[in-house]
Amino acid sequence: MRHLYLHVPFCVRRCSYCDFSIAVRKRIPAGEYVNAVLQEFVRRGEQEGSLETLYLGGGTPSLLPPEAIQSLLHELTRQIRNPQSAIRNDMETTLEANPEDVSAASVRTWRAAGVNRVSLGAQSFDDRVLQWMHRSHDAARIGAAVQALRGAGIDNISLDLIFALPEELHRDWERDLDMAISLLPSHLSLYGLTVEPRTPLDRWISRGATKLPADDRYADEYLYAHRRLTANGYHFYEVSNASLNGFISRHNSAYWSARPYLGLGPAAHSFDGRVRRWNVSAWEAYRRAISEGRSPIESEEVLTGEQRELEGLYLALRTAEGVSLSACPPDRLTAWVAAGWVVLDGGRVRCTPEGWLRLDELVAKLFATKGLSPS
Ligand code: SF4
Repeated sequence: MRHLYLHVPFCVRRCSYCDFSIAVRKRIPAGEYVNAVLQEFVRRGEQEGSLETLYLGGGTPSLLPPEAIQSLLHELTRQIRNPQSAIRNDMETTLEANPEDVSAASVRTWRAAGVNRVSLGAQSFDDRVLQWMHRSHDAARIGAAVQALRGAGIDNISLDLIFALPEELHRDWERDLDMAISLLPSHLSLYGLTVEPRTPLDRWISRGATKLPADDRYADEYLYAHRRLTANGYHFYEVSNASLNGFISRHNSAYWSARPYLGLGPAAHSFDGRVRRWNVSAWEAYRRAISEGRSPIESEEVLTGEQRELEGLYLALRTAEGVSLSACPPDRLTAWVAAGWVVLDGGRVRCTPEGWLRLDELVAKLFATKGLSPS
């Protein structure tokens, strides 16, 4: 067990585009949550190993009191057998945080708990846009959060930004990127807005109150961001993720290279290299299962060799590593190279930014040539 994910489901409100399984709470049941996750960890019996990465995602992990995070990480690492090698000195420990939860005091405790990377849900530097998204922070909080993180010794900072917003918001994407770059984050994650069923955004669209921009706007903003960030020293090592040299997310890279990981908490997924398991998604159902001594695992899927191969290809094409030349149909490659969607380099096929915009299409054709269909 080298990669551990903890899902913290709590949020203060639901963002307009979010369909995650979250528990909206004014009062965060931190003690109950910490106990439940620790019990799940013990029952899973997967305490052997040398942790390389630990990731607290959500939800909003930064809503947990810093002391609760500290005691959770302390107890988890104490549980890991083989203490000499259980915790590596160079372990990457990431906390997802909302800018408004970041203060000098909270960062000091997170740092003492072992957190050395923080992913901030910035999304935009425009207060009107943040309100439309139902975010709980304003733009000024983002810079203040970055300053507080650096001041208390956490330099490895990632910012999340959302692009391709509805036209009527008049969101200035170039300005938002400039603001983000000016904070010198070591990493940025860019997500195009999507409409998920039963979200506030879905309802607004259904009643004609807003609509998503045309596909070319999505492409223009993505390609602009790619150029702008690349010119500023960032490397897109995955379709949605760019980092300065030496600052890739090692945890997420483990997912993209199909390495095993253990996930704890409601809705958390685990993968042992062959079987994918996932927990019940609702906090209450998870809490009840743990307190009644039942497994919180809702279901599992055993991947066949073929499925593992396909998933590996799909994930690899998402990354700058690309896939081996031998995995691609030679008859398609010529056309893809001519169209500027892929490049051939050192026996690998790698997507260009334009290719990443057509990732689904490329993958579908790749699979079809192999007589398979992506699930
Ligand atoms: S903070 Fe994140 S998880 Fe919570 S509602 Fe917003 S997008 Fe969803």
